[in-house]
Amino acid sequence: MRLKFLGGCKQIGGQAVYLENDGYYLFDYGIEMGKKPSLPELDFSVRDLNVVFLTHAHLDHSGGVPYLFSGIKTPNLVMTPPTRILSKILFRDMLKLSGYYLPFGQNEVRTALNRAIMVKYSKNKWKKMNGVKYLTIDAGHIPGSASFIVEVNGKRIMYTGDINHISTRLLDGMKNKFPKIDYVIMESTYGATDHPERETVEKELVEYINNIIDQEGTVLVPAFGVGRSQEVMCLCTYYNIRYPIFIDGMARKVSRALMRYVNYLRDTSLYKKAIRITNFISRGKKKIMERRNAVSMPSVIIAPSGMLKGGTAIFYADNLKDSVKNAIYLVSFQLPGSLGRQVLESKLWKDGNTKIKAEVKHFPLSSHSGRSELLSFVDTIDKKSNGNTTFFHIHGEEENINAISNELVDRGIESIIPNKMEDFEI
Ligand SMILES: [Zn+2]
Ligand SMILES: [Zn+2]
Repeated sequence: MRLKFLGGCKQIGGQAVYLENDGYYLFDYGIEMGKKPSLPELDFSVRDLNVVFLTHAHLDHSGGVPYLFSGIKTPNLVMTPPTRILSKILFRDMLKLSGYYLPFGQNEVRTALNRAIMVKYSKNKWKKMNGVKYLTIDAGHIPGSASFIVEVNGKRIMYTGDINHISTRLLDGMKNKFPKIDYVIMESTYGATDHPERETVEKELVEYINNIIDQEGTVLVPAFGVGRSQEVMCLCTYYNIRYPIFIDGMARKVSRALMRYVNYLRDTSLYKKAIRITNFISRGKKKIMERRNAVSMPSVIIAPSGMLKGGTAIFYADNLKDSVKNAIYLVSFQLPGSLGRQVLESKLWKDGNTKIKAEVKHFPLSSHSGRSELLSFVDTIDKKSNGNTTFFHIHGEEENINAISNELVDRGIESIIPNKMEDFEI
């Protein structure tokens, strides 16, 4: 058997790893973002691809999947039901924004989604497919996110996708309950750093929001449309923010779509209540009036994108930035080079000149496990196998990957940092 890493090595983007054993089994097939999105290079024919295990809908994991459905013979595609509906929304958005650069279109997207085999999280019940047995584990990262444990030739391989062990107002965190595993391919986004305690961050955010709206100001929370927007909506509901909450952009569609999958969320009734009390900005002609209305009253506005790269958050930030009464509270990680990062670090608007008068602050609500959680995850699996598990670290900047790998080596645990296109006999 052979494991090969096609992408997502020492970086985030273009996640793809395959297992070769009588055909190919692919874990994720994401795009590498950037001005021109690109797909990881395949060194086998798609005709020989048996199964694609898709962990979740984020495009760095899912974006290339439709390409695998261009030919006559197509693979089995395994995912959870929420991943399917969220992928549908994100694929459509991806084609709209960068379809020109992609080697597939609407047809392939439709075929992929139609052929998807939907699986629920397994409760220790192994499923069989094309000569492998597998378990689908709740990864706690976004609605429907999964890790897969695959058993082939008596060996077990876990591919984590993105994981979060910390429970949020939207999702339960991943639980460290696993069978014995021989190889783990794990995300290591926060291999070097720990997150502050979740509830402390939540309460601080709520306190800041209340301060602004009590003084007649408006708060913008730029948030990614899938997951984070719904979390902020639930958070505002849970802590009883007494002023109107508005939601705009792609977050509206996602929030409504998730109503069909509330059993994948932490607190069904909180989610339903959040949907009920949140004001959804209209899609039609009325939207301009409603947006103006939202920025002119004490309220909380949740709008993508989380890093102010585009989306309706730009409109709101532009309208709120010139008054000290208002605030822009960022909750996502802000990539260097993004407008969000610039706003946070220098309080300068798009033109690089205009000073933002509204308050700007960062409240880190991450959807990835921090260093401590990653280490206790490793520890649980290592103990279960009496130290016989090998860990591969992917999905993280080099600094983070190195930090966690070094820690494992210090503890006497087998740890490997794969390079792009590197393969391993297992
Ligand atoms: Zn993700
Ligand atoms: Zn990811």
